[in-house]
Amino acid sequence: MTEFIVLGAGMAGVGAALALQARGHAVSLLDRRAPGSETSHGNAGVIQSEAVEPYAIPRDVPTLLRYALGRSNDVVWHARDLPRLAPALWRYFQQSAPARHGEISRSYAQLIGRVLDDHAPLITASESEPLIRRTGMGEIHRSARALEAAAREARRLREAYGIPSQVMDASAMREDDPALRSGPAGMLLWTGSWSCTDPGALTRAYADLFARRGGRVLTGEAQSLARRASGWQVASDDGPVEASQVVVALGPWGPDLLRRFGYRVPMVWKRGYHGHYDTPARLARPYVDADNGVVMSSMTRGLRITTGAELVRRDGPAAPRQLERGRRAVAELVELGEPVPDGQWHGHRPCLPDMLPLVGPAPRHEGLWFDFGHGHQGFTLGPTTGEILAEAIEGRDDALTAALDPRRRGL
Ligand SMILES: Cc1cc2nc3c(=O)[nH]c(=O)nc-3n(C[C@H](O)[C@H](O)[C@H](O)COP(=O)(O)OP(=O)(O)OC[C@H]3O[C@@H](n4cnc5c(N)ncnc54)[C@H](O)[C@@H]3O)c2cc1C
Repeated sequence: MTEFIVLGAGMAGVGAALALQARGHAVSLLDRRAPGSETSHGNAGVIQSEAVEPYAIPRDVPTLLRYALGRSNDVVWHARDLPRLAPALWRYFQQSAPARHGEISRSYAQLIGRVLDDHAPLITASESEPLIRRTGMGEIHRSARALEAAAREARRLREAYGIPSQVMDASAMREDDPALRSGPAGMLLWTGSWSCTDPGALTRAYADLFARRGGRVLTGEAQSLARRASGWQVASDDGPVEASQVVVALGPWGPDLLRRFGYRVPMVWKRGYHGHYDTPARLARPYVDADNGVVMSSMTRGLRITTGAELVRRDGPAAPRQLERGRRAVAELVELGEPVPDGQWHGHRPCLPDMLPLVGPAPRHEGLWFDFGHGHQGFTLGPTTGEILAEAIEGRDDALTAALDPRRRGL
């Protein structure tokens, strides 16, 4: 009998499966789709070693007004969805108070501080080096004033957490990456971040590594999960699978399954879109267009533009106006080319109001573990939270495991 079933084969589930397997457990990894087909496929592909402080809801009135009046492309919202989202958003707003956000960031920075060390051996062992760039991530600013403000913020992060960065003016930026057009004031280069030219392929490569090391990858429906005398059972295409322990790593769908077991998880789904363009030149690295809330990155299918957050019901209709605005903005920065047919996608950042993933034991069910809610950085964090979950299962108990522990999160 398998000891662990991991439900969900995105970066979080694959990371957990590998970490448990590395400690000698027999593990099955189950998903209704192929590994890395959902959020871990559609993202911007940045392994964000600079993201030491999670996104808080801004508290300054001008920014909130810009959001409220629909003048920002980073965050958009729909009046029809607000009543349903309001309770989780209100909790998110409360957790964003500076003192509380500082406390959360101390835990988050500990997670982020490990991510490169946790990805590196998996990249090597899965032979994924050709997918990885270690050229940092650029943050392009159109005005000198915005660039100066970004440089001040970067100095603060260097002093507080040791995050390396470099400021480049317009000519240094274009010399460094000739694919960029002239116009912007310059960029802040986060020199320590890595990126990936096909996030879904990297997730699949890690899942293949798990299978090569003896793990079972199964197709099945997580909603079939049921208690049995021996522990847990789930239906798969290969028949029923039983295990003494189950890890829920269903990303944006985690709350759906857990509702059946009496847990109401207050998730904020931040929808993002991507589109691909047949851009002639390849960029040296991903760039955030800081004025327009989009990221552009050369990927296997072309230049991928990914958008900021649309606050919506998860299963509501697609309305990719952020992508259209982003396309117009990016066309000012690079020669864009034609859209790639069938190159559009949308998915949801699984964000929790306290900005930390849930990693650890279920509050009221023996043998049930959570590893989801990775928000804006799950592609970065999956291998790390997998390790931390495996360490918690072995009995690690310290300030970081306590901060992530589902039993202390009011569920
Ligand atoms: C536009 C955008 C850009 C982003 N950019 C970045 C970035 O640059 N860097 C970064 O670190 N993060 C980024 N993120 C966030 C990141 O993509 C997510 O946090 C991460 O992919 C979540 O991983 P996951 O494994 O938890 O979820 P997923 O990858 O969604 O995996 C969940 C899995 O559960 C499966 N599943 C769901 N329900 C069931 C069921 N009932 N039965 C069986 N299987 C089921 C799904 O098929 C899926 O494979 C971005 C997100 C978006 C939307």
